[in-house]
Amino acid sequence: MSIRVVGYVMGLQTPSPLGKLLLLYGADGATEDGVLSFDDQQKAAAFCCATADDVMVAVDEMVAANVLLPWADGRFVIQGYEPPPPPPAGKRQLPLSIRRAVIDRDGHKCLACGATNDLSIDHIHPESKGGSHDMSNLQTLCRPCNRRKGVRLP
Ligand SMILES: [Zn+2]
Repeated sequence: MSIRVVGYVMGLQTPSPLGKLLLLYGADGATEDGVLSFDDQQKAAAFCCATADDVMVAVDEMVAANVLLPWADGRFVIQGYEPPPPPPAGKRQLPLSIRRAVIDRDGHKCLACGATNDLSIDHIHPESKGGSHDMSNLQTLCRPCNRRKGVRLP
């Protein structure tokens, strides 16, 4: 959590009170660079006592009012912050929708040991070696198994 960013967004004008709440929610998980995300719309909605639809509308309003600038990977930069360079191509964050789809497909468990918690998404062919974010190159592994695998090729 970035106290500095939270303090900063409290002073920003937003198109709606919900926008201000969302900024506070986002600022809580923001980086010191002012980059934040509303990837988990359900969580954002619960924080604001609103619906996920309301959250999407309020985010759109803030983008329209230039309070939020779209950045990389569906994230945003807060008005007044210098947008940091986007993350390098090969190391892009996996969109939440793909993460969910892979974990659903794999039955919510680690394909190596069957663990059902601490799950992560593994690139079968490592992205550092050109592996894609395609569903066919992704599998569900728990973090310990993922660490054991490292970047070895299958
Ligand atoms: Zn495992």
